[in-house]
Amino acid sequence: MLETLKMIYQVFIPPGQRARWVGLIFLGVAVAVAETLTALLIFRVLDHVADPRPADVIELPLGLETTLVPLLLVAGAVFVARGLLSILSLYAQARVVHNAAATVSALVHRRYLQAPYRFHLTRSSSESLRTVLWSVDVTVNSALNPAISVVTAGLTAGMLFVLLLGIAPVMTLAAVGVLAVGLALVLTVVQPRLSRLGRKSEKTSQLMLAAVRDSFDSVRDIKAYRAEDYFDTRFRRHRSYLARLRSDRALLDQLPPNMVESIVVLGLLVLIGLAQTGSSFNDLVPVLGAFGYAALRIVPSVNKMVASVNKLRFGQQAARNVWDDLHLAIPQAPPDELAPEDLGPLLEREIELEQISFTYPAGERPALDGVDLTIRRGEMLAIAGGSGSGKSTLVDVVLGLLEPDSGRILIDGIDTPPPGWHQKVGIVSQTVVLLDSTVRDNVAFGDAVNADDELVTRALKLAQLGPWLEGLPDGLDTLVGESGKLVSGGERQRIAIARSLYRSPDLLILDEATSALDGATEASLVEGLAEFSGDLTIVIVSHRIAPIRAADRIAMMYDGKVVAVGSFDELRSSTPEFRDLVGM
Ligand code: ADP
Ligand code: MG
Repeated sequence: MLETLKMIYQVFIPPGQRARWVGLIFLGVAVAVAETLTALLIFRVLDHVADPRPADVIELPLGLETTLVPLLLVAGAVFVARGLLSILSLYAQARVVHNAAATVSALVHRRYLQAPYRFHLTRSSSESLRTVLWSVDVTVNSALNPAISVVTAGLTAGMLFVLLLGIAPVMTLAAVGVLAVGLALVLTVVQPRLSRLGRKSEKTSQLMLAAVRDSFDSVRDIKAYRAEDYFDTRFRRHRSYLARLRSDRALLDQLPPNMVESIVVLGLLVLIGLAQTGSSFNDLVPVLGAFGYAALRIVPSVNKMVASVNKLRFGQQAARNVWDDLHLAIPQAPPDELAPEDLGPLLEREIELEQISFTYPAGERPALDGVDLTIRRGEMLAIAGGSGSGKSTLVDVVLGLLEPDSGRILIDGIDTPPPGWHQKVGIVSQTVVLLDSTVRDNVAFGDAVNADDELVTRALKLAQLGPWLEGLPDGLDTLVGESGKLVSGGERQRIAIARSLYRSPDLLILDEATSALDGATEASLVEGLAEFSGDLTIVIVSHRIAPIRAADRIAMMYDGKVVAVGSFDELRSSTPEFRDLVGM
């Protein structure tokens, strides 16, 4: 529990923001003081009224004196002020807490974006989704807010307790003793169960998010295979289990406050009974009055504290998940990244891969096994090979997305690439995900604020989308992606190609990026690129003849190795795997 509190403190209350939290504590103290003052004044009023021969003057602590009417007025005013203060304090707390939650959520999201590609290979996106959207909120509701409540409610309960000690020490201590024993008993039963519920709830919410994401992502296949029932059942199962966990939690939450109330009311009844049998009933009336009033105010505070401790147990796992992801080991970006326009040309001569090997974290066999390859400036190099031969992995290594297990990459003979070099590399992947936004945003990708419409249009034309663009109702402002104009697989790929060309790369890598195009479009696209290229170096990954034929050189991959490099005719005569691939 202490560990959880420490994590919450460090995550949600960073050094720069401590002042506002101190302010919250001061407000809490003010509320507690007002509560205690009200109880004290009520005690004085009852004490005065219960006296058979009341004096005109009422003595207050600190040698002050007053009469009944002003005392009533002051008591009323203090009570109202207490209410206003407590509203103010709750509002301030809500503001500060929700702000902190938004900040932490955004920080975790940023961590995922900064994490190396390798991290995302083995991480289920539903887990990240869960932590960003769900665990942060659970931590706030079940750990941060309760921790604050323990402090504020504790202050109020503590001060009222001191007041009662002054009025009736023996009675107070007896009451507290009974309360403490009862609470300890209930909490030992309730707390471990809440811990378990918290863990199950984090896991279940992740499974539920995964189910919902799969339902929407796979909607086409679900329709095609009539798999609605399976996906319905899958989501329903996790969602109902979550409902079950929540009702169990509601039950466990109800036990302690119920018990506190029972003990307090039973205690008061016993006290009244005892007082009745005694001789000086009138002497006890003010004490009982103050006691009753204080109990009325203390019970919610005590209940709040107990509920908070319970919630903390429940929120432990969520807090841990947020903490873990905020502390992912992420390599620092090089300190002085250069802007693209300040970078020199990426390549003067060549990129050399030397004995590159790589095995995926979950892989059994190496995906790349001692690859040697040279990419020369200005050439169009095709990487051919059957599916699973390691082409995409090789591309990811060249891009620096994957760190090879062994071997080196030399750019113009230097094996540390200049900072920011990846901004000079354009990549179009096999699977294209369009943003749920305009054509412009999809092409300028990440640069949408300063998007240059002329560049966007030029990139689209180069990607053979000129006529398509002219047919669009709102031109570059046309919505594509999920909520917009439906685009075909080929248009999708060409938008992605335009995206890579927009940045005027020095090296352009197309990973099966033309597979959804018909032969004629593919040919004219590749020809257009070759013509436009000039200094542009193009690596084109494909298993189709047209782009392979158009290339200056071809590297043939088989089983994680580059088995041959040469022209189309050379490979056809020398390499059986190549003949198999191109179907000759
Ligand atoms: P290609 O692009 O030529 O079809 P890949 O480079 O995608 O081939 O894959 C090469 C090998 O690495 C294959 O055996 C594939 O199963 C494996 N592989 C690819 N991605 C992963 C991954 N994320 N985790 C584990 N193994 C992978
Ligand atoms: Mg591939």
